[in-house]
Amino acid sequence: MKLPITQAGWLLGASLLACAGVAGAQTLNLYSARHYDADEQLYAAFTEATGIEVNLLEGNADQLIERIRREGAASPADVFMTVDAARLYRAETAGILAPVESEVLEQRLASELRHPDNLWFGFSSRARLIFFDPDVYAEAPVQTYEELADPRFQDEICIRSSSNDYNQSLVASLIAAHGVEATEEWAEGLVSNLARQPQGGDTDQIRGVAAGECSIAVANHYYWVRLQLSDNAADQAVAEGTAPFFPNQAGRGTHRNIGGAAMVDGSRNPDAARAFLEFLTTDEAQRFFALGNHEFPVVEGVQPPEVVQAFTEYSLDPLDISVLGDNNAEAVRLMDRVGWR
Ligand code: FE
Repeated sequence: MKLPITQAGWLLGASLLACAGVAGAQTLNLYSARHYDADEQLYAAFTEATGIEVNLLEGNADQLIERIRREGAASPADVFMTVDAARLYRAETAGILAPVESEVLEQRLASELRHPDNLWFGFSSRARLIFFDPDVYAEAPVQTYEELADPRFQDEICIRSSSNDYNQSLVASLIAAHGVEATEEWAEGLVSNLARQPQGGDTDQIRGVAAGECSIAVANHYYWVRLQLSDNAADQAVAEGTAPFFPNQAGRGTHRNIGGAAMVDGSRNPDAARAFLEFLTTDEAQRFFALGNHEFPVVEGVQPPEVVQAFTEYSLDPLDISVLGDNNAEAVRLMDRVGWR
């Protein structure tokens, strides 16, 4: 594998020199809601590049946010990592994040992937797809999320509950595109098309299609990739029995979300925290980071891992990710009003 010395790499080196001058900055306390094997390689690569050891505390995103909040000024946390704009928004509104000023982050990450005040940064992207039963439909029965509300799909759709962050962010993106009123009408139509009460996670929606309980489902792309790559023949059959589709290609693009990270307010190792965030934008780290969960690298020019190569040829909605947080509360209220359980 070639490791080109990028401009960012050079800048990273410069900021690490600054960091080397800070006594006791050789450990980074990372609170992460991610737990993928490839992440271990990522931390090892960071330690090798910087000499900074990574101390990892894993947990559920909301528990980690609560823990950091409770620990307050005594919190050893330097960096918080999680997925989905809605969770980053909760961390932001809990007041546990601190801004990071970095030319590397500004240059390597598109502005839509960064919080406007640099409170968090997106390092990978994921797409929320529509899956259909190829035995029922020879071709995708819809081109857009909007069409999922069409009465012709009565009793056909599987989607998880409105308490799920991924769905809240999807609805937040529809609010950005159409406004609250039109999105509420859409959600009402969607709910009346449900094949069953919302239940389970994203994978369960895909399984619902394979089992014939529904003919259309909504789920993030990597759940399907996981089934496809599974050692389990039954899982592989589920992937084969369902067809992924990228909606809204003719318009704004498929709904995009991110995996992100942020510096924790009160971090005692702010230089190490910044170095870690900057490291996540290197070509090497981008590949590891994406590989962990079959996501897409976000830095331009970085070759995506082969398993998701075919998935990266579609256009994703360039909507500013922070808008998903801004619209979150409105999305939750709207889903509640239409009886989306
Ligand atoms: Fe997920």
